[in-house]
Amino acid sequence: MPASRHIAVLAFPFGTHAAPLLHLIKRIAASAPEDVIFSFFGSSESNKSIFSGGKGDEEFANIEAYEVWDGVPKDHVFKGNPHFEQIGLFINATPGNFEKAMKEAEEETGVKISCLLTDAFLWFSADLAEKHGVPWIPFWTAASCALSAHLYTDDIRRLLSTNEQTVGMIPGFDGLSIKDMPKEVLMDNNQSPLALLIYNMALHLPRATVVVVNSFEEIDPAITLDLKSKLKKFLNVGPLPLMAESSKKTIDSSADHNDECLEWLKKQDDSSVVYISFGSVITPPPHEMVALAEALESWKGPFLWSLRDHARKNLPDGFIDRTTGNGKFVSWAPQKEVLQSGKVGVFVTHCGWNSILESISYGVPLICRPFFGDQVLNSAMVEDKWKIGLRVKDGVFTKDGTVSAIEVILSSEKGKQIRENVQVLKGKAIDAVQVPNGSSVRNFQDLLELVAMS
Ligand code: UDP
Repeated sequence: MPASRHIAVLAFPFGTHAAPLLHLIKRIAASAPEDVIFSFFGSSESNKSIFSGGKGDEEFANIEAYEVWDGVPKDHVFKGNPHFEQIGLFINATPGNFEKAMKEAEEETGVKISCLLTDAFLWFSADLAEKHGVPWIPFWTAASCALSAHLYTDDIRRLLSTNEQTVGMIPGFDGLSIKDMPKEVLMDNNQSPLALLIYNMALHLPRATVVVVNSFEEIDPAITLDLKSKLKKFLNVGPLPLMAESSKKTIDSSADHNDECLEWLKKQDDSSVVYISFGSVITPPPHEMVALAEALESWKGPFLWSLRDHARKNLPDGFIDRTTGNGKFVSWAPQKEVLQSGKVGVFVTHCGWNSILESISYGVPLICRPFFGDQVLNSAMVEDKWKIGLRVKDGVFTKDGTVSAIEVILSSEKGKQIRENVQVLKGKAIDAVQVPNGSSVRNFQDLLELVAMS
């Protein structure tokens, strides 16, 4: 059947942004009519990490990957933090790099682009969509609370010049403090290309046909209601981790049951393991790695630590050998399956949104050590609003503070309440995506009609 609709999918190719976007696209592709095709635009490195072979999807012939220039000049030498420098160079290359690749995709397929479904960061897509005369559908890959903080940036910045320390004027934010807000909200736009990008995003999102988020309405009803009033349409379609990527897969069929670390987990008691992971970008500073390792050694219970090989040199001498009886190290964990195993009692995390949502989806409480971006706000929501975890004392890993947080979660009355709270939230998340009339099921149907049927 010849294609009649062509969806351009524009990814922000850093951190864990592109993977949930692709997950959403696969969900849409699984339910869309056969004449809909998807062109997925990302940097070469990002595409390689989410598509095997980097060219397209193995299961969906109608999802094709296209490379956009990453903006790094040939022979470029990185001077500062390479992650943020790469982001800055990429932003400088936009939107020209995307426009060039979109033109190629139109020529290759012979089908004009009919819809732009993009990472919300890529605000210039509002202009591109207008130019093509098509809808712009931004996907916000973080939590609704973080989106709200960005939409209220000017109000929050005004507070900085007063003595007011709380942000209670934002619906759903009562009790939160200015210091919990994402750094990009608090800093001057000129201080970072990312801060400027996100500021512009907040200005332009009200132009979008619909803003989509990987969350569920019931987690923050006041924020959901407020965002619905500020945007033309606001659709929570998650948690994506609880939705199979396609109709052909069941939720846990992606688990590699032979994986060594899952085999190790199987031998542990239920809800006994401390799982540690800081996502795809962060490695804690060396002194905090030492403090965390000392805490685990002193606590003596089972732990699974997802730790890149290059960072292991920062562990105390002999730590890995001394903890072979109770500890397991992997350089990359099958995180969803780990959290789903029933063996994890607490997840020590940097509070990236995907990690938090996966933990909620599988009912695992959290110990939070946030670093940047939305992580600080997410950790405040975890402890103060959702009450499903704790921040580490004074915001950094110390031996005593970490042992105490583990003990509180796993074996105190307060911990029991936290464990119950996360089960309740998990129940709401499951209802949203798996009950026939669940809020995310209905919202996804709306989205599907907008993207692929109209
Ligand atoms: N992840 C994983 N194995 C690991 C560490 C992380 O599969 O060892 C996955 C995790 O399941 C999540 C993503 O990487 O989906 C991390 O996303 P998050 O938003 O938490 O953090 P970011 O990578 O953006 O900092």
